[in-house]
Amino acid sequence: MINYEGKVVIVTGGTRGIGLETVRAFKENKAKVILFGSKQETVQNAIEKLKTENLEVEGYYPNLNNYEEVEKTINEIYKKYGRIDVLVNNAGISANKTIDNTTCEEFEKIMNLNVNAMFNVSKAVIPYMKEVRNGVILNTSSMVSKYGQPAGIGYPTSKFAVNGFTISLARELAPFNIRVNAVAPGITNTDMVANLPKEMIEPLIKTIPLARIGEPRDIANAFLFLGSDMASYISGVVLSVDGLART
Ligand code: NAD
Repeated sequence: MINYEGKVVIVTGGTRGIGLETVRAFKENKAKVILFGSKQETVQNAIEKLKTENLEVEGYYPNLNNYEEVEKTINEIYKKYGRIDVLVNNAGISANKTIDNTTCEEFEKIMNLNVNAMFNVSKAVIPYMKEVRNGVILNTSSMVSKYGQPAGIGYPTSKFAVNGFTISLARELAPFNIRVNAVAPGITNTDMVANLPKEMIEPLIKTIPLARIGEPRDIANAFLFLGSDMASYISGVVLSVDGLART
């Protein structure tokens, strides 16, 4: 247990996969958790699912690419809870087509969610964190941000940007006692992976020294640690949580 009692945590892309498990983990550790999703229905389903586990959370579905909408939602949350301690920028989409089969719109769509949305939500919470000289921003990167991948160019490109954003923003915000870190999951057991072709996944698993695919809780645990005071001297890192799959 890490005690998050009294702390307010926002998780984007919190309706399923790594995000939902991160919501669950923070909630189990006594945080007040607000999840963001892309639509009302999936947000409501996630809230209901957690309720059956006796975990009460709140949810919103702002368009993460519309800064005004994001800012309005963050302001509403701040008004209600009076603080925002941890932001987990987790919403993300992937790709696997070759560059010649990728349209400009598809490339932009990935950058919009994986990079611009992270900028928008961070920008909206930072004034509140600065005010109290305290806060943590955590971003979901990927192992492809270190090694690239042989197709789906927008995805690794966006995750290299996540790392750059993390390291630079950590420097900018350190004087305000705001820490910024990223977690770089290896292949993790979520819908995102279920949608990838078997031929892509199976050879990948064979290259993992810890000999298994990651579970969403492996990633959630890293967020729990980095968001806590146990990590109070850690900022600007991209923490690999990948079973040592460094290829
Ligand atoms: P997932 O597809 O299960 O979940 C994605 C989440 O993003 C969902 O909650 C969804 O609501 C949200 N989302 C999708 N489109 C959105 C939009 N337009 N607006 C707002 N929210 C939107 O994926 P996951 O595997 O849990 O991935 C979560 C994060 O982890 C992503 O950033 C992904 O790049 C990263 N990641 C995943 C893996 C993996 O193997 N699963 C590996 C490395 C990194």
